[in-house]
Amino acid sequence: MIRVLPPVVVNQIAAGEVIERPASVVKELVENSLDAGARSLRVEIKDGGRELIRIIDDGAGFSVEDLPLAFVSHATSKLAELGDLDHIASLGFRGEALASIGSVARCSIRSRVAGEDSGHEIHCEGGELSTPKPCGCPIGTQLEVRELFFNTPARRRFLKRGSAERARIQDLLMRMSLMDLDLALILSVDDREVLNLPSGESLEDRVARCFGRELRGALIPVQRGIEDYRLSGFVADPDLARRDGTRELLYINGRLARDRAAQQAIRQAFRPYLIHGRFPQYFLMLDLPPDQVDVNVHPSKAELRFLQGRLVCGMLHAAVAEGLASRGLVQTESSGSLSVAEGKPRAHSGFPDLPSDLFARPTERQEPLPLQKSATTRVDAAPSAEPSSPFSELAERQFLQIMDLYLVFEGRDEMVVIDQHALHERVLYEDFKARQAGKPVQVQRLLVPEVVSLSAGDKEYLLSARAILAEEGFLIDDFSGDDLAIQGIPALLRRARPAALLESFLRGGVEGDARPRAKEAIVERFHSMACRSAIMAGDRLGEEEIRSLLLASRELDHPHHCPHGRPTVLRFGRSELERFFRRRV
Ligand code: ADP
Ligand code: MG
Repeated sequence: MIRVLPPVVVNQIAAGEVIERPASVVKELVENSLDAGARSLRVEIKDGGRELIRIIDDGAGFSVEDLPLAFVSHATSKLAELGDLDHIASLGFRGEALASIGSVARCSIRSRVAGEDSGHEIHCEGGELSTPKPCGCPIGTQLEVRELFFNTPARRRFLKRGSAERARIQDLLMRMSLMDLDLALILSVDDREVLNLPSGESLEDRVARCFGRELRGALIPVQRGIEDYRLSGFVADPDLARRDGTRELLYINGRLARDRAAQQAIRQAFRPYLIHGRFPQYFLMLDLPPDQVDVNVHPSKAELRFLQGRLVCGMLHAAVAEGLASRGLVQTESSGSLSVAEGKPRAHSGFPDLPSDLFARPTERQEPLPLQKSATTRVDAAPSAEPSSPFSELAERQFLQIMDLYLVFEGRDEMVVIDQHALHERVLYEDFKARQAGKPVQVQRLLVPEVVSLSAGDKEYLLSARAILAEEGFLIDDFSGDDLAIQGIPALLRRARPAALLESFLRGGVEGDARPRAKEAIVERFHSMACRSAIMAGDRLGEEEIRSLLLASRELDHPHHCPHGRPTVLRFGRSELERFFRRRV
Protein backbone atom coordinates (compact mmCIF):
# COMPACT_ATOMS: atom_id res chain seq x y z
CA MET A 1 0.00 0.00 0.00
CA ILE A 2 1.39 3.39 -1.01
CA ARG A 3 0.94 6.18 1.51
CA VAL A 4 1.73 9.87 1.40
CA LEU A 5 4.11 10.53 4.28
CA PRO A 6 3.08 13.01 6.96
CA PRO A 7 4.94 16.35 6.75
CA VAL A 8 6.99 15.71 9.91
CA VAL A 9 8.44 12.56 8.41
CA VAL A 10 9.09 14.31 5.11
CA ASN A 11 10.95 17.00 7.01
CA GLN A 12 12.94 14.47 8.99
CA ILE A 13 14.00 12.86 5.75
CA ALA A 14 14.95 16.24 4.33
CA ALA A 15 16.84 16.95 7.55
CA GLY A 16 18.97 13.93 6.75
CA GLU A 17 20.31 15.80 3.75
CA VAL A 18 20.79 19.22 5.24
CA ILE A 19 21.32 18.70 8.93
CA GLU A 20 24.02 16.20 9.64
CA ARG A 21 25.43 17.55 12.88
CA PRO A 22 25.39 20.63 15.13
CA ALA A 23 27.71 22.50 12.80
CA SER A 24 25.20 22.15 9.95
CA VAL A 25 22.54 23.73 12.17
CA VAL A 26 24.89 26.60 12.95
CA LYS A 27 25.65 27.06 9.27
CA GLU A 28 21.98 27.34 8.31
CA LEU A 29 21.14 29.66 11.18
CA VAL A 30 24.08 31.98 10.55
CA GLU A 31 23.13 32.14 6.88
CA ASN A 32 19.61 33.11 7.90
CA SER A 33 20.88 35.85 10.19
CA LEU A 34 23.10 37.22 7.44
CA ASP A 35 20.17 37.15 5.02
CA ALA A 36 18.16 39.05 7.63
CA GLY A 37 20.81 41.78 7.54
CA ALA A 38 22.31 41.13 10.97
CA ARG A 39 25.32 43.29 11.90
CA SER A 40 26.05 41.50 15.09
CA LEU A 41 25.72 37.86 15.92
CA ARG A 42 26.18 35.85 19.06
CA VAL A 43 26.40 32.07 18.91
CA GLU A 44 26.19 30.08 22.13
CA ILE A 45 26.64 26.35 22.32
CA LYS A 46 26.61 23.77 25.10
CA ASP A 47 28.19 20.34 24.86
CA GLY A 48 29.35 21.00 21.33
CA GLY A 49 25.83 21.99 20.28
CA ARG A 50 24.37 18.63 21.26
CA GLU A 51 22.58 20.14 24.22
CA LEU A 52 22.04 23.69 22.99
CA ILE A 53 22.64 25.98 20.05
CA ARG A 54 21.46 29.54 20.54
CA ILE A 55 21.85 32.27 17.96
CA ILE A 56 21.06 35.88 18.71
CA ASP A 57 21.06 38.38 15.88
CA ASP A 58 20.06 42.02 15.38
CA GLY A 59 18.57 41.43 11.94
CA ALA A 60 15.15 42.27 10.55
CA GLY A 61 13.31 39.74 12.71
CA PHE A 62 10.02 37.85 12.11
CA SER A 63 6.68 39.59 12.08
CA VAL A 64 3.87 37.90 14.09
CA GLU A 65 2.29 36.78 10.83
CA ASP A 66 5.48 35.18 9.60
CA LEU A 67 6.38 33.35 12.79
CA PRO A 68 4.03 30.38 12.28
CA LEU A 69 5.51 29.86 8.82
CA ALA A 70 9.09 29.72 10.04
CA PHE A 71 9.08 25.96 10.56
CA VAL A 72 6.90 25.12 7.59
CA SER A 73 8.79 23.45 4.79
CA HIS A 74 9.24 25.23 1.50
CA ALA A 75 8.28 28.46 3.21
CA THR A 76 10.70 31.21 2.37
CA SER A 77 10.74 34.96 1.96
CA LYS A 78 13.63 34.84 -0.48
CA LEU A 79 12.06 33.29 -3.52
CA ALA A 80 8.67 33.96 -5.04
CA GLU A 81 8.65 32.31 -8.44
CA LEU A 82 10.61 29.90 -10.56
CA GLY A 83 12.51 32.63 -12.41
CA ASP A 84 14.01 33.81 -9.13
CA LEU A 85 16.08 30.62 -8.99
CA ASP A 86 18.24 31.95 -11.81
CA HIS A 87 19.64 34.85 -9.87
CA ILE A 88 19.84 34.08 -6.21
CA ALA A 89 21.51 36.79 -4.20
CA SER A 90 20.61 35.50 -0.73
CA LEU A 91 22.34 32.65 1.06
CA GLY A 92 19.12 30.72 1.65
CA PHE A 93 16.35 30.07 -0.84
CA ARG A 94 15.06 26.55 -0.26
CA GLY A 95 12.84 27.30 2.73
CA GLU A 96 13.87 23.97 4.14
CA ALA A 97 16.41 24.58 6.90
CA LEU A 98 14.14 25.64 9.74
CA ALA A 99 11.54 22.99 8.85
CA SER A 100 14.25 20.35 8.94
CA ILE A 101 15.73 21.56 12.20
CA GLY A 102 12.31 21.91 13.78
CA SER A 103 11.49 18.31 12.97
CA VAL A 104 14.54 16.85 14.73
CA ALA A 105 15.03 19.12 17.76
CA ARG A 106 13.26 21.25 20.36
CA CYS A 107 13.34 24.74 18.94
CA SER A 108 12.10 28.17 19.85
CA ILE A 109 12.19 31.56 18.20
CA ARG A 110 11.77 34.90 19.96
CA SER A 111 11.74 37.75 17.54
CA ARG A 112 10.76 41.36 17.15
CA VAL A 113 10.70 43.56 14.07
CA ALA A 114 11.35 47.29 14.17
CA GLY A 115 8.14 49.22 14.76
CA GLU A 116 6.42 46.55 16.90
CA ASP A 117 6.39 47.27 20.60
CA SER A 118 6.72 43.68 21.69
CA GLY A 119 8.24 40.58 20.33
CA HIS A 120 6.71 37.16 19.85
CA GLU A 121 7.72 33.67 20.70
CA ILE A 122 7.00 30.34 19.05
CA HIS A 123 8.05 26.77 19.79
CA CYS A 124 8.53 23.79 17.55
CA GLU A 125 9.38 20.42 19.09
CA GLY A 126 9.86 17.52 16.73
CA GLY A 127 7.61 19.24 14.22
CA GLU A 128 4.86 20.19 16.76
CA LEU A 129 4.17 23.89 16.41
CA SER A 130 2.88 26.16 19.21
CA THR A 131 0.88 29.34 18.66
CA PRO A 132 2.85 32.59 18.86
CA LYS A 133 2.75 34.44 22.19
CA PRO A 134 3.94 37.94 22.95
CA CYS A 135 7.19 38.25 24.79
CA GLY A 136 9.72 40.95 25.55
CA CYS A 137 12.80 40.93 23.39
CA PRO A 138 15.06 43.32 21.50
CA ILE A 139 14.78 43.87 17.75
CA GLY A 140 16.13 40.88 15.97
CA THR A 141 15.90 37.16 16.49
CA GLN A 142 16.92 34.67 19.14
CA LEU A 143 16.72 31.12 17.94
CA GLU A 144 17.31 28.14 20.20
CA VAL A 145 17.88 24.55 19.17
CA ARG A 146 17.97 22.04 22.03
CA GLU A 147 18.61 18.30 22.07
CA LEU A 148 19.34 17.89 18.41
CA PHE A 149 18.13 14.52 17.07
CA PHE A 150 16.26 13.76 20.32
CA ASN A 151 13.63 11.91 18.27
CA THR A 152 15.95 10.27 15.74
CA PRO A 153 18.29 8.20 17.93
CA ALA A 154 20.09 6.65 14.97
CA ARG A 155 21.27 10.11 13.96
CA ARG A 156 22.16 11.11 17.46
CA ARG A 157 24.47 8.12 17.80
CA PHE A 158 26.55 9.42 14.91
CA LEU A 159 27.44 12.61 16.73
CA LYS A 160 30.97 12.92 18.01
CA ARG A 161 32.00 13.96 21.49
CA GLY A 162 31.11 17.51 22.47
CA SER A 163 34.69 18.69 22.06
CA ALA A 164 34.88 17.41 18.49
CA GLU A 165 31.53 18.94 17.50
CA ARG A 166 32.59 22.18 19.14
CA ALA A 167 35.81 22.28 17.12
CA ARG A 168 33.80 21.87 13.93
CA ILE A 169 31.50 24.71 14.88
CA GLN A 170 34.36 27.01 15.75
CA ASP A 171 36.14 26.25 12.50
CA LEU A 172 32.94 26.78 10.54
CA LEU A 173 32.29 30.14 12.18
CA MET A 174 35.80 31.33 11.49
CA ARG A 175 35.44 30.36 7.85
CA MET A 176 32.00 31.97 7.63
CA SER A 177 33.25 35.11 9.32
CA LEU A 178 35.19 35.99 6.17
CA MET A 179 31.90 36.18 4.28
CA ASP A 180 31.08 39.47 5.94
CA LEU A 181 33.81 41.55 7.55
CA ASP A 182 31.28 44.04 8.88
CA LEU A 183 29.63 41.38 10.98
CA ALA A 184 30.62 41.31 14.64
CA LEU A 185 30.69 37.70 15.72
CA ILE A 186 30.97 36.08 19.11
CA LEU A 187 31.10 32.38 19.91
CA SER A 188 30.51 31.28 23.45
CA VAL A 189 31.18 27.67 24.38
CA ASP A 190 29.74 26.38 27.65
CA ASP A 191 29.44 29.98 28.88
CA ARG A 192 32.98 30.92 27.90
CA GLU A 193 33.70 33.30 25.03
CA VAL A 194 36.17 31.62 22.70
CA LEU A 195 35.86 33.85 19.67
CA ASN A 196 35.18 37.56 19.47
CA LEU A 197 35.51 39.16 16.05
CA PRO A 198 34.94 42.91 15.88
CA SER A 199 33.08 44.36 12.92
CA GLY A 200 34.87 46.30 10.22
CA GLU A 201 38.14 44.39 10.35
CA SER A 202 40.30 44.15 7.27
CA LEU A 203 40.41 40.77 5.60
CA GLU A 204 44.07 40.44 6.62
CA ASP A 205 43.30 41.11 10.25
CA ARG A 206 40.44 38.68 10.32
CA VAL A 207 42.39 35.95 8.60
CA ALA A 208 45.29 36.38 11.01
CA ARG A 209 42.99 36.46 14.01
CA CYS A 210 41.15 33.31 12.96
CA PHE A 211 43.76 31.23 11.24
CA GLY A 212 47.03 32.09 12.87
CA ARG A 213 49.25 35.03 13.51
CA GLU A 214 51.97 33.58 11.30
CA LEU A 215 49.74 34.56 8.37
CA ARG A 216 50.22 38.22 9.14
CA GLY A 217 52.80 39.52 6.71
CA ALA A 218 52.64 36.27 4.75
CA LEU A 219 49.53 37.11 2.77
CA ILE A 220 50.00 37.95 -0.87
CA PRO A 221 47.26 40.10 -2.36
CA VAL A 222 45.43 38.81 -5.41
CA GLN A 223 43.28 41.04 -7.53
CA ARG A 224 41.70 40.63 -10.90
CA GLY A 225 38.66 41.60 -12.88
CA ILE A 226 37.30 40.30 -16.14
CA GLU A 227 34.00 41.66 -17.39
CA ASP A 228 31.58 41.41 -14.45
CA TYR A 229 33.79 38.97 -12.60
CA ARG A 230 35.80 40.31 -9.68
CA LEU A 231 38.41 38.41 -7.74
CA SER A 232 40.12 39.70 -4.63
CA GLY A 233 41.70 38.40 -1.46
CA PHE A 234 44.92 36.75 -0.45
CA VAL A 235 46.98 33.67 -1.00
CA ALA A 236 49.32 32.67 1.81
CA ASP A 237 53.03 32.32 1.30
CA PRO A 238 53.68 28.73 0.14
CA ASP A 239 55.98 28.38 3.16
CA LEU A 240 52.81 28.05 5.16
CA ALA A 241 51.40 25.18 3.12
CA ARG A 242 49.47 22.61 5.14
CA ARG A 243 49.02 18.90 5.27
CA ASP A 244 45.31 19.27 4.60
CA GLY A 245 43.14 21.40 2.39
CA THR A 246 41.09 23.01 5.15
CA ARG A 247 42.38 26.50 4.46
CA GLU A 248 41.56 26.56 0.79
CA LEU A 249 38.78 29.07 1.08
CA LEU A 250 37.03 30.43 -1.97
CA TYR A 251 33.92 32.52 -1.42
CA ILE A 252 31.61 32.85 -4.35
CA ASN A 253 29.24 35.79 -4.11
CA GLY A 254 29.86 35.77 -0.40
CA ARG A 255 29.02 32.11 -0.09
CA LEU A 256 31.51 29.57 1.16
CA ALA A 257 31.14 26.87 -1.45
CA ARG A 258 33.23 24.31 -3.19
CA ASP A 259 33.90 23.80 -6.85
CA ARG A 260 36.46 21.15 -7.71
CA ALA A 261 37.59 22.69 -10.97
CA ALA A 262 38.15 26.08 -9.36
CA GLN A 263 40.09 24.43 -6.55
CA GLN A 264 42.26 22.55 -9.04
CA ALA A 265 42.98 25.73 -10.98
CA ILE A 266 44.29 27.43 -7.86
CA ARG A 267 46.31 24.40 -6.77
CA GLN A 268 47.84 24.26 -10.20
CA ALA A 269 49.13 27.80 -9.81
CA PHE A 270 50.70 26.84 -6.48
CA ARG A 271 52.29 23.67 -7.79
CA PRO A 272 55.75 25.03 -8.64
CA TYR A 273 56.14 26.23 -5.07
CA LEU A 274 54.85 23.23 -3.15
CA ILE A 275 56.11 19.77 -2.45
CA HIS A 276 53.93 16.80 -3.16
CA GLY A 277 51.21 16.29 -0.58
CA ARG A 278 51.04 19.85 0.69
CA PHE A 279 48.02 22.09 0.36
CA PRO A 280 48.00 25.84 -0.10
CA GLN A 281 46.18 28.32 2.07
CA TYR A 282 44.10 30.95 0.35
CA PHE A 283 41.28 33.32 1.17
CA LEU A 284 39.71 34.49 -2.05
CA MET A 285 36.48 36.26 -2.88
CA LEU A 286 34.95 35.84 -6.29
CA ASP A 287 31.99 38.00 -7.16
CA LEU A 288 30.02 37.53 -10.33
CA PRO A 289 26.49 38.17 -11.55
CA PRO A 290 24.13 35.76 -9.73
CA ASP A 291 22.80 34.43 -13.04
CA GLN A 292 26.30 33.19 -13.88
CA VAL A 293 26.32 30.59 -11.16
CA ASP A 294 23.93 27.81 -10.14
CA VAL A 295 23.85 27.44 -6.37
CA ASN A 296 20.99 24.96 -6.37
CA VAL A 297 23.13 21.90 -6.96
CA HIS A 298 23.08 20.33 -3.53
CA PRO A 299 20.64 20.62 -0.59
CA SER A 300 23.33 21.94 1.72
CA LYS A 301 24.28 24.54 -0.93
CA ALA A 302 27.92 23.54 -0.45
CA GLU A 303 28.54 22.97 -4.13
CA LEU A 304 27.79 25.10 -7.11
CA ARG A 305 28.22 25.26 -10.84
CA PHE A 306 29.57 28.06 -13.00
CA LEU A 307 28.02 28.93 -16.31
CA GLN A 308 31.46 29.87 -17.62
CA GLY A 309 33.65 27.42 -15.77
CA ARG A 310 36.63 27.91 -18.04
CA LEU A 311 36.64 31.64 -17.67
CA VAL A 312 36.49 31.31 -13.89
CA CYS A 313 39.27 28.72 -13.73
CA GLY A 314 41.50 30.64 -16.11
CA MET A 315 41.01 33.78 -14.11
CA LEU A 316 41.74 32.08 -10.79
CA HIS A 317 44.84 30.39 -12.13
CA ALA A 318 46.26 33.49 -13.74
CA ALA A 319 45.58 35.73 -10.76
CA VAL A 320 47.08 33.34 -8.22
CA ALA A 321 50.10 32.55 -10.39
CA GLU A 322 50.71 36.25 -10.82
CA GLY A 323 50.38 36.90 -7.11
CA LEU A 324 52.81 34.15 -6.24
CA ALA A 325 55.33 35.23 -8.83
CA SER A 326 55.37 38.71 -7.37
CA ARG A 327 55.58 37.67 -3.77
CA GLY A 328 58.38 38.57 -1.41
CA LEU A 329 61.24 38.05 -3.76
CA VAL A 330 60.49 39.85 -6.93
CA GLN A 331 62.49 39.86 -10.05
CA THR A 332 62.96 43.45 -11.04
CA GLU A 333 63.37 44.06 -14.70
CA SER A 334 66.09 46.68 -14.61
CA SER A 335 68.83 44.70 -12.91
CA GLY A 336 67.49 41.16 -13.08
CA SER A 337 68.06 41.04 -9.37
CA LEU A 338 65.96 40.20 -6.34
CA SER A 339 64.47 42.28 -3.63
CA VAL A 340 62.98 41.40 -0.29
CA ALA A 341 59.43 42.26 0.64
CA GLU A 342 59.19 45.04 3.12
CA GLY A 343 59.57 44.04 6.72
CA LYS A 344 60.59 40.50 5.87
CA PRO A 345 64.16 40.07 7.00
CA ARG A 346 64.94 41.00 10.56
CA ALA A 347 68.38 42.08 11.59
CA HIS A 348 69.65 40.95 14.93
CA SER A 349 71.59 43.48 16.88
CA GLY A 350 74.95 42.73 18.43
CA PHE A 351 78.30 42.54 16.75
CA PRO A 352 79.31 39.07 15.58
CA ASP A 353 82.69 37.49 16.28
CA LEU A 354 84.46 37.79 12.97
CA PRO A 355 87.35 35.48 12.27
CA SER A 356 90.29 37.52 11.06
CA ASP A 357 90.58 35.59 7.80
CA LEU A 358 86.91 36.01 6.97
CA PHE A 359 87.42 37.97 3.84
CA ALA A 360 90.48 36.14 2.65
CA ARG A 361 89.07 32.62 2.71
CA PRO A 362 86.69 32.19 -0.16
CA THR A 363 88.82 32.91 -3.15
CA GLU A 364 92.40 32.97 -4.20
CA ARG A 365 91.84 36.02 -6.30
CA GLN A 366 93.01 38.93 -4.26
CA GLU A 367 91.57 41.75 -6.23
CA PRO A 368 90.15 44.59 -4.18
CA LEU A 369 86.42 44.33 -3.66
CA PRO A 370 84.73 46.70 -6.05
CA LEU A 371 83.33 49.69 -4.26
CA GLN A 372 80.99 50.67 -7.01
CA LYS A 373 79.29 48.72 -9.68
CA SER A 374 81.81 48.65 -12.43
CA ALA A 375 83.15 46.56 -15.24
CA THR A 376 85.96 45.27 -13.04
CA THR A 377 83.52 43.13 -11.11
CA ARG A 378 83.19 40.93 -14.14
CA VAL A 379 86.07 38.56 -13.84
CA ASP A 380 85.39 36.61 -16.99
CA ALA A 381 83.49 37.92 -19.89
CA ALA A 382 80.48 35.74 -20.50
CA PRO A 383 78.67 37.10 -23.51
CA SER A 384 76.21 34.24 -23.59
CA ALA A 385 74.89 35.05 -20.13
CA GLU A 386 71.15 35.52 -20.12
CA PRO A 387 70.46 38.95 -18.75
CA SER A 388 67.09 37.76 -17.50
CA SER A 389 68.58 35.49 -14.87
CA PRO A 390 70.01 37.03 -11.75
CA PHE A 391 72.25 34.02 -11.36
CA SER A 392 74.10 34.25 -14.62
CA GLU A 393 75.85 37.35 -13.49
CA LEU A 394 76.42 36.10 -9.97
CA ALA A 395 78.16 33.05 -11.36
CA GLU A 396 81.01 35.27 -12.47
CA ARG A 397 81.45 37.13 -9.25
CA GLN A 398 83.47 36.77 -6.15
CA PHE A 399 81.57 35.38 -3.22
CA LEU A 400 81.95 34.41 0.35
CA GLN A 401 80.75 31.07 1.60
CA ILE A 402 79.64 31.18 5.20
CA MET A 403 78.41 28.49 7.58
CA ASP A 404 78.97 26.02 4.75
CA LEU A 405 75.54 27.05 3.58
CA TYR A 406 75.17 30.64 2.50
CA LEU A 407 76.83 32.41 -0.37
CA VAL A 408 77.23 36.14 0.00
CA PHE A 409 77.69 38.34 -3.04
CA GLU A 410 77.96 41.99 -3.66
CA GLY A 411 75.18 42.91 -6.01
CA ARG A 412 74.45 46.28 -7.47
CA ASP A 413 74.22 48.49 -4.46
CA GLU A 414 73.15 45.60 -2.32
CA MET A 415 74.17 42.43 -0.57
CA VAL A 416 72.84 39.20 -2.05
CA VAL A 417 72.65 36.06 0.07
CA ILE A 418 71.96 32.67 -1.48
CA ASP A 419 70.97 29.56 0.41
CA GLN A 420 73.00 27.10 -1.61
CA HIS A 421 71.06 24.05 -0.48
CA ALA A 422 67.73 25.60 -1.28
CA LEU A 423 69.03 26.53 -4.69
CA HIS A 424 70.57 23.11 -5.20
CA GLU A 425 67.26 21.52 -4.33
CA ARG A 426 65.48 23.65 -6.87
CA VAL A 427 68.01 22.71 -9.56
CA LEU A 428 67.60 19.01 -8.81
CA TYR A 429 63.86 19.28 -8.61
CA GLU A 430 63.45 20.95 -11.96
CA ASP A 431 65.86 18.54 -13.51
CA PHE A 432 63.77 15.63 -12.35
CA LYS A 433 60.65 17.28 -13.60
CA ALA A 434 62.22 17.95 -16.97
CA ARG A 435 63.25 14.34 -17.11
CA GLN A 436 59.70 13.20 -16.50
CA ALA A 437 58.80 15.34 -19.46
CA GLY A 438 60.95 13.12 -21.63
CA LYS A 439 64.49 14.41 -21.54
CA PRO A 440 67.12 11.64 -21.34
CA VAL A 441 68.71 10.75 -18.01
CA GLN A 442 72.36 11.41 -17.47
CA VAL A 443 74.16 8.46 -15.99
CA GLN A 444 77.38 8.53 -14.10
CA ARG A 445 79.05 5.19 -14.86
CA LEU A 446 81.27 3.88 -12.09
CA LEU A 447 84.84 3.03 -13.06
CA VAL A 448 84.76 0.12 -10.68
CA PRO A 449 81.36 -1.39 -9.97
CA GLU A 450 80.41 -1.16 -6.32
CA VAL A 451 79.34 -4.47 -4.86
CA VAL A 452 76.77 -4.47 -2.08
CA SER A 453 75.38 -7.31 0.03
CA LEU A 454 71.64 -7.42 0.43
CA SER A 455 68.92 -9.59 1.89
CA ALA A 456 67.54 -12.06 -0.63
CA GLY A 457 64.21 -10.22 -0.69
CA ASP A 458 65.75 -6.84 -1.35
CA LYS A 459 67.95 -8.21 -4.06
CA GLU A 460 65.10 -9.96 -5.78
CA TYR A 461 63.01 -6.80 -5.62
CA LEU A 462 65.74 -4.59 -7.05
CA LEU A 463 66.40 -6.97 -9.89
CA SER A 464 62.71 -7.11 -10.71
CA ALA A 465 62.65 -3.34 -10.94
CA ARG A 466 65.92 -3.22 -12.83
CA ALA A 467 64.54 -1.83 -16.08
CA ILE A 468 62.72 1.00 -14.37
CA LEU A 469 65.74 1.80 -12.24
CA ALA A 470 67.88 1.93 -15.37
CA GLU A 471 65.51 4.47 -16.86
CA GLU A 472 66.15 6.62 -13.82
CA GLY A 473 69.88 6.27 -14.32
CA PHE A 474 70.48 3.64 -11.68
CA LEU A 475 72.29 0.67 -13.24
CA ILE A 476 72.51 -2.59 -11.35
CA ASP A 477 73.55 -6.15 -12.17
CA ASP A 478 73.29 -9.47 -10.47
CA PHE A 479 76.64 -10.35 -8.92
CA SER A 480 76.79 -13.52 -6.86
CA GLY A 481 74.99 -14.94 -3.86
CA ASP A 482 73.32 -12.05 -2.06
CA ASP A 483 75.51 -9.52 -3.79
CA LEU A 484 74.56 -6.95 -6.34
CA ALA A 485 76.83 -4.76 -8.45
CA ILE A 486 76.08 -1.07 -8.95
CA GLN A 487 77.33 -0.05 -12.38
CA GLY A 488 76.08 3.50 -12.57
CA ILE A 489 74.06 6.11 -10.74
CA PRO A 490 72.07 9.16 -11.83
CA ALA A 491 74.54 11.90 -12.65
CA LEU A 492 72.53 14.28 -10.55
CA LEU A 493 73.19 12.21 -7.47
CA ARG A 494 76.87 11.66 -8.11
CA ARG A 495 77.83 13.35 -4.90
CA ALA A 496 76.28 10.54 -2.92
CA ARG A 497 77.93 7.18 -2.27
CA PRO A 498 76.33 4.58 -4.56
CA ALA A 499 75.79 2.09 -1.74
CA ALA A 500 74.21 4.77 0.42
CA LEU A 501 71.91 5.69 -2.43
CA LEU A 502 70.76 2.13 -2.81
CA GLU A 503 70.31 1.87 0.92
CA SER A 504 68.26 5.06 0.98
CA PHE A 505 66.15 3.85 -1.91
CA LEU A 506 65.36 0.56 -0.17
CA ARG A 507 64.64 2.23 3.13
CA GLY A 508 62.06 4.38 1.40
CA GLY A 509 60.44 1.21 0.15
CA VAL A 510 60.07 -0.34 3.55
CA GLU A 511 58.78 2.80 5.21
CA GLY A 512 55.67 2.80 3.08
CA ASP A 513 53.02 0.15 3.46
CA ALA A 514 54.05 -1.67 0.32
CA ARG A 515 57.08 -1.97 -1.86
CA PRO A 516 56.89 0.40 -4.76
CA ARG A 517 55.97 -1.68 -7.76
CA ALA A 518 54.72 1.05 -9.95
CA LYS A 519 57.11 3.09 -11.99
CA GLU A 520 55.58 6.24 -10.65
CA ALA A 521 56.45 5.35 -7.10
CA ILE A 522 60.04 4.70 -8.07
CA VAL A 523 60.31 7.99 -9.89
CA GLU A 524 58.83 9.74 -6.90
CA ARG A 525 61.40 8.09 -4.65
CA PHE A 526 64.28 9.30 -6.80
CA HIS A 527 62.79 12.69 -6.80
CA SER A 528 62.66 12.94 -3.05
CA MET A 529 66.13 11.42 -2.77
CA ALA A 530 67.43 14.14 -5.04
CA CYS A 531 65.91 16.81 -2.89
CA ARG A 532 67.14 15.25 0.30
CA SER A 533 70.61 14.68 -1.05
CA ALA A 534 70.94 18.41 -1.43
CA ILE A 535 69.95 19.02 2.14
CA MET A 536 71.77 16.06 3.59
CA ALA A 537 74.96 16.95 1.80
CA GLY A 538 75.53 19.67 4.39
CA ASP A 539 79.14 19.77 3.31
CA ARG A 540 81.11 22.56 1.89
CA LEU A 541 80.72 22.92 -1.86
CA GLY A 542 83.89 23.68 -3.76
CA GLU A 543 84.13 26.89 -5.70
CA GLU A 544 83.76 25.15 -9.04
CA GLU A 545 80.68 23.28 -7.84
CA ILE A 546 79.15 26.52 -6.68
CA ARG A 547 79.80 28.18 -9.98
CA SER A 548 78.28 25.32 -11.89
CA LEU A 549 75.30 25.40 -9.54
CA LEU A 550 74.82 29.08 -10.27
CA LEU A 551 75.12 28.45 -13.96
CA ALA A 552 72.60 25.63 -13.82
CA SER A 553 70.24 27.99 -12.01
CA ARG A 554 69.95 30.06 -15.15
CA GLU A 555 67.81 27.41 -16.72
CA LEU A 556 65.34 27.30 -13.88
CA ASP A 557 61.69 28.08 -14.30
CA HIS A 558 61.40 29.10 -10.67
CA PRO A 559 64.82 30.05 -9.36
CA HIS A 560 63.55 32.05 -6.43
CA HIS A 561 62.26 29.27 -4.25
CA CYS A 562 63.18 25.73 -3.36
CA PRO A 563 60.49 23.11 -4.04
CA HIS A 564 59.30 23.52 -0.44
CA GLY A 565 58.65 27.16 -1.10
CA ARG A 566 61.53 28.55 0.94
CA PRO A 567 63.40 31.38 -0.73
CA THR A 568 66.72 30.63 -2.37
CA VAL A 569 67.97 34.20 -2.39
CA LEU A 570 67.62 37.19 -0.15
CA ARG A 571 68.72 40.66 -1.02
CA PHE A 572 69.59 43.44 1.31
CA GLY A 573 69.65 46.79 -0.40
CA ARG A 574 71.74 49.72 0.62
CA SER A 575 68.85 51.54 2.18
CA GLU A 576 67.84 48.45 4.11
CA LEU A 577 71.34 48.04 5.48
CA GLU A 578 71.37 51.69 6.34
CA ARG A 579 68.22 51.19 8.31
CA PHE A 580 69.70 48.22 10.11
CA PHE A 581 72.72 50.29 11.05
CA ARG A 582 70.57 53.27 11.99
CA ARG A 583 72.19 55.48 9.44
CA ARG A 584 68.72 56.32 8.38
CA VAL A 585 65.31 55.96 9.95
P1 ADP B 1 15.49 29.93 3.59
O1 ADP B 1 16.61 30.54 4.31
O2 ADP B 1 15.93 28.99 2.52
O3 ADP B 1 14.49 30.91 3.11
P2 ADP B 1 14.86 28.80 6.15
O4 ADP B 1 14.06 27.61 6.55
O5 ADP B 1 16.28 28.80 6.54
O6 ADP B 1 14.71 28.97 4.61
O7 ADP B 1 14.18 30.07 6.73
C1 ADP B 1 12.79 30.32 6.43
C2 ADP B 1 12.45 31.79 6.48
O8 ADP B 1 12.51 32.26 7.82
C3 ADP B 1 13.40 32.68 5.73
O9 ADP B 1 13.05 32.79 4.38
C4 ADP B 1 13.27 34.01 6.46
O10 ADP B 1 12.19 34.75 5.96
C5 ADP B 1 12.93 33.60 7.86
N1 ADP B 1 14.08 33.66 8.77
C6 ADP B 1 14.87 32.64 9.15
N2 ADP B 1 15.81 33.03 10.03
C7 ADP B 1 15.63 34.35 10.22
C8 ADP B 1 16.27 35.35 11.04
N3 ADP B 1 17.33 35.05 11.81
N4 ADP B 1 15.78 36.60 11.01
C9 ADP B 1 14.73 36.91 10.23
N5 ADP B 1 14.07 36.03 9.44
C10 ADP B 1 14.50 34.76 9.44
MG1 MG C 1 18.01 29.52 5.43
